[in-house]
Amino acid sequence: MAILIDGKATSFAMKEELKVKIEAFEKENGFAPGLSVIIVGDDPASAVYVRNKENACAAVGIKSTTYRLPGDTAEEELLALIRRLNADVSVHGILVQLPLPKQICEETVLATISPNKDVDAFHAQNVGHIMIGNYHFLPCTPAGVMALLDRYDISVEGKHCVVIGRSNIVGKPQAMLLLEKNGTVTICHSRTKNLADITRQADILVAAVGRANFVTADMVKEGATVIDVGINRLPDGTLCGDVAFNEVEKKAYAITPVPGGVGPMTVTMLLYNTLTAAKESLK
Ligand code: NAP
Repeated sequence: MAILIDGKATSFAMKEELKVKIEAFEKENGFAPGLSVIIVGDDPASAVYVRNKENACAAVGIKSTTYRLPGDTAEEELLALIRRLNADVSVHGILVQLPLPKQICEETVLATISPNKDVDAFHAQNVGHIMIGNYHFLPCTPAGVMALLDRYDISVEGKHCVVIGRSNIVGKPQAMLLLEKNGTVTICHSRTKNLADITRQADILVAAVGRANFVTADMVKEGATVIDVGINRLPDGTLCGDVAFNEVEKKAYAITPVPGGVGPMTVTMLLYNTLTAAKESLK
């Protein structure tokens, strides 16, 4: 049986540690880190994510403010709000919940958030910092994966790390972070030929595909660490990852479940980024 990498327990422990750090920060500086979250429209999944972020902020002592804008908000109106928050010294982090309604260009919105307040690390400037290994903020989901590997003493150095998925928010930055820790990294995607031949070489396999039970036992090397980033909803409403957990966990050395694996870590890393942004604002 594989070691179960418990993201829920790890994120709880990390939030307890963060709470102490934030208390010390507030005591020293007279203000709490502030996060502004903007949600446009009434997508139910986005509403749940935003509520989770509000609750997590409250639990660790971050002052969060949520701006709920109607689904027909004009792009310029959203950009004006972001510019106002960019200029507000009590706001250290700004997060615009994605996806956005179709009349709003996501790229323009992400580019308008001040790189110093970009706690999702989606701004091109911060993406560039990650490429050169000189950064303040790490993208939350890949950073959460790295924190899990670290907390479970799973060394990346010299390992063959295979990432399935090349999105800007997960696959690509995940590959960069594994590379930075001296992994030998292969990135796979929908045009990859002989995918299973490659994934079977992985010492550490990260699945970020968005397809339920995509990674089956025959794609995994005996003794590999398997990290499942996927969040998929089955027709019966239950959540599952990209990895066929029941069969893969029999072969793996360690594995993350879904739910309760990478998911809870994403919000935790957002909270850490917000404290970093508040500290940086003092410089
Ligand atoms: P995405 O933008 O849709 O990217 C999916 C990637 O998978 C793409 O690079 C795609 O390749 C690749 N892919 C699709 N079919 C494939 C196939 N048959 N073989 C190999 N590669 C294939 O998704 P994402 O935003 O990265 O998210 C991935 C998953 O992670 C989703 O389930 C999402 O809900 C979840 N997620 C979870 C968290 C969390 O907090 N745990 C955070 C973010 C995302 P191409 O580039 O060639 O199309």
